[in-house]
Amino acid sequence: MVGIKTDVSVEEKLKLSSQLVSVEQCPDLLPEDFIYHTKNRGRAVPIFKILVSNICYNDCLYCANRSTRNCKRYKFRVAEVVNVFMELYSQGKVSGIFLSSGIHNRPDRVQAEILKVVEILRKKYRYSGYIHSKVIPGSDPEIVRALFEFSDRVSINLEAPGERYIRKIAPHKDFLKLYTRLKQLVQFSKKYNLNSGITTQLIVGIGDEDDRTLLSFAHRLYTQIGIRRMYYSGFQPVEATPLEGKSRCRKLRILRLYQADYLIRMYGFSPQEFAYDDSGNLLLSKDPKLAWAEKNLIKVNINNARFEELIRIPGIGHNSAREILLLRKKKRIKLSDLKNLGINRYQTLKFIQT
Ligand code: SF4
Repeated sequence: MVGIKTDVSVEEKLKLSSQLVSVEQCPDLLPEDFIYHTKNRGRAVPIFKILVSNICYNDCLYCANRSTRNCKRYKFRVAEVVNVFMELYSQGKVSGIFLSSGIHNRPDRVQAEILKVVEILRKKYRYSGYIHSKVIPGSDPEIVRALFEFSDRVSINLEAPGERYIRKIAPHKDFLKLYTRLKQLVQFSKKYNLNSGITTQLIVGIGDEDDRTLLSFAHRLYTQIGIRRMYYSGFQPVEATPLEGKSRCRKLRILRLYQADYLIRMYGFSPQEFAYDDSGNLLLSKDPKLAWAEKNLIKVNINNARFEELIRIPGIGHNSAREILLLRKKKRIKLSDLKNLGINRYQTLKFIQT
């Protein structure tokens, strides 16, 4: 491996970690140095997100930590991670931790270090807040199982929606093994009643995968495997990697994917219902729910539509639909009543009749 130099101060390790840690480009996640604010029930929760080491023996084409890339390397000791986190936590700066790492040793060793950190936090410091642990591909299932005793959320990154996609960007990664491990994690999570479930991540804009393929894959993972959440990470070229000349993924594409993903998880949409362009990608020009409605929705009668029909109207979410149903019990609803409920956008009202 090129450029290994591990005599680095904790401060510098933190700085390097904050630059390198894989950040899901999710509208819920707002980076602020090494602290990320993730939304939980509308509340911003600051999370300490740390890459334990950027040393990695793998050589994924897109990654800043790939073994053949010449860069400054570091590795935190277990005690350093614990101390830094407890310091931030006692100062009230963070209320959770997300641990990930490059594969700097045998997968079991790397996973065991992550396990050690979370075990110390829970047992020695009686820390009861949020812990998200990343699973290292190829690590012993028994070490992984132990993680579940201490974690709220566990994740493993699939990175791509199938073998043929991953082969082009991470040739050493075995998609089937990753997929099988993901399924195993969901089984563990049911047994341990994991609060925040199992998540995974796809990199977007790196290969020839289109949004229809990504969303169909996510839908399969939600319905057939039972993951809690899919994250979409927009590809960003990294200097001195084989993909440095490739264009970055547009943020708007990621936003549209999250909007469509939300409609799948919370509104019962199937990926086939969305409007795609000729390349199989979501329309960038409009929100997927609006695009669907313009193609499929005739006016909905607000006085007799079912809940499931109401939430298909752009601009009407679960709360508004419940308010409409409540109001309907008292009176016949007129347009002026909707305005009193805050439902007054043209893009919503044009699909409604009273
Ligand atoms: S295994 Fe992870 S850290 Fe290592 S090169 Fe691949 S993506 Fe980067």
